[in-house]
Amino acid sequence: MIEFKNVSKTYPNGTKGLKNINLKIEKGEFIVIVGLSGAGKSTFLRSINRLHEITEGEILIDGKSITATRGGELLKMRRDIGMIFQNFNLVKRSSVLRNVLSGRVAYHGTLRMLLGMFPKEDKELAFQALDRVNMLEKAYSRADELSGGQQQRVSIARVLAQKAKLILADEPVASLDPLTTEQVMNDLKHINEQDGITTIVNLHYIDLARKYATRIIGLRAGEVVFDGPVEEATDEC
Ligand code: ADP
Ligand code: ADP
Repeated sequence: MIEFKNVSKTYPNGTKGLKNINLKIEKGEFIVIVGLSGAGKSTFLRSINRLHEITEGEILIDGKSITATRGGELLKMRRDIGMIFQNFNLVKRSSVLRNVLSGRVAYHGTLRMLLGMFPKEDKELAFQALDRVNMLEKAYSRADELSGGQQQRVSIARVLAQKAKLILADEPVASLDPLTTEQVMNDLKHINEQDGITTIVNLHYIDLARKYATRIIGLRAGEVVFDGPVEEATDEC
């Protein structure tokens, strides 16, 4: 589903974020990227949906180069990619429901969404998504009234409503306590297993990676230092 071909990223100041990455990710995998702070995890993830531009090589999604795609075609490709952030990226003063509906923007355009003109089917999708992360009863709460773990579950509902085929989660549990961390990781894992959504998660902790991943990719200084099944991952990777 995803292929990195000779991918490198050098930041304008000369820092190398990624160095000649070559790998393939198949549909339905649950991949955890591990590595110390500065290893390149975020650069790796954000290169896939072009939040960061790579400087060499190409990234293919279903055989099509996203790194060479522009304009409307790029927007269409991004529709299939859901992003989850450490700080949740919700509109704080909006309701939970509105936040989940914003996952539909890529289909209807921003103007219609600003005017609150959501098709009935979208609302149904949003409620279904909230139900799956156990947040249905908070649909009309303001996002900033929720705990961190609850906000992250809303952001998972948002990518479900988006009908993403690929989920990129950049340190989704870094600001959560151990209990809510498990809830968020379990939600991501269930969605991966039930819907077959390919999922790539960046994590600091190898223990958490071991518990959830089907495959672990270890990065160090922008290079892949480990890539394999969970059983083979050592503490160093
Ligand atoms: P991680 O997510 O593993 O913490 P990053 O992908 O954020 O790592 O960073 C990889 C490397 O690129 C680090 O050396 C970091 O300092 C550098 N880096 C990240 N973003 C920028 C930027 N905007 N400008 C310059 N260097 C950056
Ligand atoms: P988490 O365990 O996700 O880090 P917190 O420790 O911040 O969350 O919150 C614990 C509980 O307090 C949660 O059940 C949440 O519903 C509630 N809570 C947190 N922040 C707020 C808030 N701003 N307004 C109302 N309730 C809140």
